[in-house]
Amino acid sequence: MDTASTDRIIEAARTQGRAALSEIESKALLEACGIPTTMPRQATSAAQAAAIAKQIGFPVVLKVLSAEVTHKSDVGGVVLGLTSGAQVENAFKQIRKNLGEKAPGARFEGVAVQAMARPGIEMLAGISYDPAFGSMLVAGLGGVLVEVLKDVVMRPAPIDAKSGREMVEELKGAALLRGVRGAPPADIEAFVDLLVKLGRLAAARSDIREMDLNPVMVYPQGVMAVDARVALNDAPAGGANPANGDRAVARRRNLEQAMSPNTIVVIGDKKAGGYIWLRAQSNFKGKLYSVQIDPKEIPNIEQMGITNYLNLSEVPGPIDLAITAVPRQVAPLILKNCLETGVRGVQFFTSGFSETGEELGIKLERQLKAMAEESEIALVGPNCMGLYNPAAGVCNFPGQPTGEAGDVCFISQSGTHMVNMAFQGPARGIKINKGASIGNAIVLNPADYLEMMADDPGTRVVGMYIEGIRDGQRFLDVLRRATARIPVVIWKGGVTEAGARATFSHTASLATPAAVWKAVVRAGGAVEVRSWDALLDALAMFSRSLPIRGRRVGLVAMTGGQSVFITDTFAGAGMEVPALSQASYDEFKTFFNTIGGSYRNPLDAAGTIMGPQEGNLVRILNILDRDPVLDLIVLEIGTGTAAARWASHEADVASMLDKLAEFNKRTTKPFSLIMHHAHLEDIVARARKMAVERGLLVFESFERAAQTLSLGADYWTRH
Ligand code: ADP
Ligand code: MG
Repeated sequence: MDTASTDRIIEAARTQGRAALSEIESKALLEACGIPTTMPRQATSAAQAAAIAKQIGFPVVLKVLSAEVTHKSDVGGVVLGLTSGAQVENAFKQIRKNLGEKAPGARFEGVAVQAMARPGIEMLAGISYDPAFGSMLVAGLGGVLVEVLKDVVMRPAPIDAKSGREMVEELKGAALLRGVRGAPPADIEAFVDLLVKLGRLAAARSDIREMDLNPVMVYPQGVMAVDARVALNDAPAGGANPANGDRAVARRRNLEQAMSPNTIVVIGDKKAGGYIWLRAQSNFKGKLYSVQIDPKEIPNIEQMGITNYLNLSEVPGPIDLAITAVPRQVAPLILKNCLETGVRGVQFFTSGFSETGEELGIKLERQLKAMAEESEIALVGPNCMGLYNPAAGVCNFPGQPTGEAGDVCFISQSGTHMVNMAFQGPARGIKINKGASIGNAIVLNPADYLEMMADDPGTRVVGMYIEGIRDGQRFLDVLRRATARIPVVIWKGGVTEAGARATFSHTASLATPAAVWKAVVRAGGAVEVRSWDALLDALAMFSRSLPIRGRRVGLVAMTGGQSVFITDTFAGAGMEVPALSQASYDEFKTFFNTIGGSYRNPLDAAGTIMGPQEGNLVRILNILDRDPVLDLIVLEIGTGTAAARWASHEADVASMLDKLAEFNKRTTKPFSLIMHHAHLEDIVARARKMAVERGLLVFESFERAAQTLSLGADYWTRH
């Protein structure tokens, strides 16, 4: 890339106070990047246009030049296929006339005369600057299809050729490039090369707000950008990354200490709030103190067996974590006290800051942020439920499970989701290692928590509920490093326009377009989910399942109807349900009940495993385990009517689950169960709990199993 030229072109426009580059300037940028383009020349009279056309060689294209026009065709500003000087002169006059009629007030700056490119597959490529994540590269189907199909993918710039190919593959219209109906395949590599070069430009010039190459003609050999448009940001972005300063590093160490504290102080807990913060720490293994000046509250606190102090400075020993629930006006004072006392981490349950949109809230939040940033204190929140470490007995709600450390971490910009995860996770087999509800995340941001949790050797998977990211670049960096070791599952709140409004009033998070998010998740190697249930299922799978290394699934259902349903569901989610190998069929033939049943994949098995033949269940699973055509095994148990027996025969259920758990321990293939509650909710819920307790991975429906296992296959085949 000729950076001297690209810089010169952009600076020239800036000097003239322009934020938009003309088609000629935009294409000059492309030339400097080594991207093939129909380089135009400006003509300000009809005669000049004809003369230039002769030099270029016919056929030519004329396009209007006007700073006020972004879509040239809309104003009759593009005339194609001109084959003579006379035609060019006419077209010049026609374009000037059209502009006067369709865009009165727009200044006519002449026309751009350029070679007419051969028709090809019209693609789109470009750059789009996101305030949180920086320059994103865009690719999609071009021409008029853009508006109709909206088939575009993004990646944070720059990219390598591998990511470029991945982008093309992700397009719904990718098949168009591979050649349909006898058409020769297009030169995908040349298009990828164009994307890589654009990515370099984007990385070098983060002040390009938008760059549109639409269309780029893609041929059986080579590409040609025939239209280009560039808009600039006010000023080049950049500067040092404050997240890597000494203070930021020390702050992250303090966060770790606050997460595994020896001493906790709860400041300002009240009867009106049910003393939730003191009660939440009732299983805390270290020393717990209270700071409260209200004489009406103190006796209640002391009755809980907790020593109360009137002042933070009186509390003995170094304080690792201060939990505060004080009114917002007092928050800056409390933070000041914490700084004076050398508190390492402080978590503010207190809300009413920038998320309110009110002047006072915004002002108070700025004060907290400024004070914390000038120090090394780990400020968690505000507007959050804070830290959760079950092994240490640090909780963000009374009654949360404590005790053993699990292997799942969860970071949430919602306190509710954090608390729900702690309470609902265990029933799904999700055991929490560390959790954090991070609220407005004004100082420590999602990347800081992710880094800490992914570095924890006890972590097998991290889940995140995110509403907004401020420092997108660092987030992506940390995400890439985290996913090199463990899966990270991200649920983004506020992906719809209405949802984005809600996230603002919830945690003051700015909206990031859904396409940018998708790109970040992809580029970061993470897994995206769109709902609470999908999040729980994914966390359960990633923490309990063996890696799923392919998409070929062996399905065992209990009846004919279910076996059709389960197959459609799995195939619909992108899984394959292959025929089994002959060796498996030969073995099944010896015992499988094929009257009202089938051992073709899917297996319809109830008739073979009922009552006294229960031993056949494991026999079936063993055959599937040995069959090399399968990557994973899924078993449905307790179809509606069958589960009816379970209520009165719990010992039978336990013995069946024991056998399945034993199979699960020795199988070489990822194995999971589907237990839908049908009309027997309580009975099945009880059996499901028993299965989860035995370390089995259990889903509640075919759909949820198929979606989740497909995500797993996606992740594990890429990592
Ligand atoms: P705009 O997008 O501003 O309306 P374009 O420059 O994209 O204008 O021109 C409109 C259409 O004309 C393009 O989508 C493309 O199909 C065609 N076109 C434009 N320039 C050329 C060219 N140099 N060679 C061949 N076709 C062109
Ligand atoms: Mg165009």
